[in-house]
Amino acid sequence: MTRILIVEDEPDIAMVLQADLRVEGYDTEIANDGESAIRRAKDDRWDLILLDVMLPLRDGFEVCREIRRARVKTRIILLTAKTQEAEKVMGLELGADDYVTKPFSPRELRARIRAVLRRDENDAEDVFRFSDCEVDFQRGELRRAGKPVELTPLEFKLISVFVKCRGRVLSRDQLIQDAWGHGVFVTERAVDYHILNLRRKVEPEPAQPQYIQSVRGMGYRFDAGNLTQS
Ligand code: CA
Repeated sequence: MTRILIVEDEPDIAMVLQADLRVEGYDTEIANDGESAIRRAKDDRWDLILLDVMLPLRDGFEVCREIRRARVKTRIILLTAKTQEAEKVMGLELGADDYVTKPFSPRELRARIRAVLRRDENDAEDVFRFSDCEVDFQRGELRRAGKPVELTPLEFKLISVFVKCRGRVLSRDQLIQDAWGHGVFVTERAVDYHILNLRRKVEPEPAQPQYIQSVRGMGYRFDAGNLTQS
């Protein structure tokens, strides 16, 4: 059974969410503050966490940061009342998978939940190797010469997108869509900045990238070469 942790401090909203998700066949539990959310997220196995941003004790951003720091890879959808782009981007950079802006319709939320859960089904590949790097999708980790490399959650998403779309040219817009998420405003320069950082971590010679290549006027292409696929 798919298990969803609902983190929401307003009892009415939490109860409605729970009732609705149970009808959909999800097994749910409610945490009503940031501290207990972190505890429950770490102590148990969940398929998804619905995480309100405005919470007592620790806010949703802190919860997100904390559980990613603890290497918990559970998918997270932020429930945000804030419509500022900066807030959305911040949530996604801290490792959330998507967000829904309050007030949302039950139908919209259900669609988002299904989309996020579907990403896991598509992530059947366990480990992808190129150069001296291993992208470990199960553990959400990149290793280089066998040693874990410190990547931000966003950098991990970027390398995952590149690996899944290897050989294809991806525009900056496509990268934003796939790595940051739908409807997020990110400048092209921000994309370039994050890719520059990623190259420093995966390329043998970051100034002369072999794997994450720039395609003039179009975007980027990840090319792992012929002999390196797992
Ligand atoms: Ca709240």
